[in-house]
Amino acid sequence: MTSNAPSPATPARGLGHHTLRRTIPLFRPYRRRLVLAALYVAFVGFCVSTPPIFTKYLVDTAIPRKDLHSAVLVMLGFVVLMTLRMVSWYAGQSILLLVREKIIYQLRRSVFVKLQELCMRFHQKHSPGFLYDRTLGGASTSVGVFLSMVFNTLVVYVFTMISALIICLRLNVWLTLWVLTMSLGYVLIGRLFKRRIHDITKKFNYEVNKFAGQVTDLLRGVKTIKAFAMEQRIISDFDENLWPLQLRSLDVNKETMFLGFFVEGLGYLINAAVLIGGSYLVVGSSISLGALVAFAGYQTMMIGMFGALATLSGTYGAAVAGLEQMYEILDERPSVVDKPGALMPAKVTGEMRFDDVFFSYDGKPVIQGLSVTIPHGQSVALVGPSGGGKSTLTNLLLRFYEPNKGVIRLDGTDIRQLPLFDYRSLYGVVLQDPFLFNDTIYNNLLAVAPESTDAQIRHALERAQAWEFVADLTGGWHFSVGESGSQLSGGQRQRIALARCFLTNPQIMILDEATSALDNQSEHFVQQALQSMMDGRTVFVIAHRLSTVRHVDRILVLQDGQVVQDGNYEELCQAPGLFRELHQVSLEPELPGSASDSSPVG
Ligand code: ADP
Repeated sequence: MTSNAPSPATPARGLGHHTLRRTIPLFRPYRRRLVLAALYVAFVGFCVSTPPIFTKYLVDTAIPRKDLHSAVLVMLGFVVLMTLRMVSWYAGQSILLLVREKIIYQLRRSVFVKLQELCMRFHQKHSPGFLYDRTLGGASTSVGVFLSMVFNTLVVYVFTMISALIICLRLNVWLTLWVLTMSLGYVLIGRLFKRRIHDITKKFNYEVNKFAGQVTDLLRGVKTIKAFAMEQRIISDFDENLWPLQLRSLDVNKETMFLGFFVEGLGYLINAAVLIGGSYLVVGSSISLGALVAFAGYQTMMIGMFGALATLSGTYGAAVAGLEQMYEILDERPSVVDKPGALMPAKVTGEMRFDDVFFSYDGKPVIQGLSVTIPHGQSVALVGPSGGGKSTLTNLLLRFYEPNKGVIRLDGTDIRQLPLFDYRSLYGVVLQDPFLFNDTIYNNLLAVAPESTDAQIRHALERAQAWEFVADLTGGWHFSVGESGSQLSGGQRQRIALARCFLTNPQIMILDEATSALDNQSEHFVQQALQSMMDGRTVFVIAHRLSTVRHVDRILVLQDGQVVQDGNYEELCQAPGLFRELHQVSLEPELPGSASDSSPVG
């Protein structure tokens, strides 16, 4: 996907026009408020342009006439006008800042919503840190900075410049044209830097996104890092990646600084040119000294504003880069989507059928022509060597991915014809290392079944053999489980995940070595509870230990993405083949029916 690579440079002409056209509709709901803010700001712009006129009055009229009374009156008027300007500024900015926050909120929200829609193929390519930074990091910040500048600078300056321009033209047309001609330099500077800042900001954002992904990964792996005493190596890796990033940040800031350098330099040139031209006009009596003083004030104001607009074009370049990177995610298309008119049958029994299914990850074949039917209510264990395709098969069942060829059917209907949300709601999944949200146990359970009563939640915890340990925790079920459930042991997490499954009462269950982290006694009880849950449901058990497959109705042995054996425990133990070999390797001398076989099959 494009967002993972520094995007190619945008064509020189029309930088961001397309992006801008796409962004402007976001402002539409706020147009009334924006018009009101513009009125406030127009008044501010008018006020900003008035001080030199007050100076001119003092220099040309009040002081030569020694009329200090009217000088005081005029300056009082000045204070009143400036007070009104401050109030208007506050009112206008309050509106504009709110609109700015709403726009950024909307952009970030739509990227987050999109991330929820995108399928596993996308998420496996991009780490959570990368995506977090893309949603909330530099890209959206640069959009915010630009909007602030537009609202703070552009709108006020445009109005001030119109007023200043009118006054300058009235003071002296030739001097005004002189200033305007030289100000064209700002347009050139703006155009040049806009593109350069856009390109380096985009590269910088991408590097930061990537780095955020790496750091998040390292922080999550802190246990492993400590266990293997890898701290020093990790720190030097971190240094190696961070310093080039700081240098890139320096590049971005240097570019902005260069822009400021040229903007300021051109300002001094125009200043000097106007004062020289103005001095000739005063000496030739074409204008009064007061008019030159006022004009000098206005031209300083005007070139200050032209300069700010040129600087703004650099910020625009950065904002376009940020917007483009957010739109890259918004433009991603999930590969697993609902078909138009997808409808769930009124009644689902739970028969699953694989019809000649092929699947590959990025060209690597994993499932190769698999055909099998699992009748409604059957419990099936998937066993076989590691990498044989067991987890992939459940990924296909859950429609995390779709087959390249062949069909998976639920009660005879191609699962691609069913609405994704309803279809996935049929399933309850317990993984070997289940993920819990950083919240209380109670909220973790409520999250999957929001309508549940306290009594139902307690019952689910009891069935999963979790109630006892939950009651012993500080705060009971209001105990916060920490990041990904890190405050709980693996076995406790598994039991909470089981309780979650019991609570949703799914029609089809997938248990991926769901009791592997339990001690013998808990496992015995949980297995019993699971056994009672399996009745009348279709259940897939991924089993790495053979102790967990003894009681299932059927065992499928998967090797290289194909079913190589199919039967129940006793049958497979008797028959020569892969299952028997794996069983023998698993250090269990007696076959079949040894008391505690727990061979690491998968
Ligand atoms: P099992 O569960 O039987 O151990 P898997 O279904 O997890 O096997 O994996 C089957 C093969 O697919 C393995 O070779 C594995 O490396 C590969 N694989 C699994 N997940 C991915 C993925 N997301 N991207 C690429 N290859 C994958």
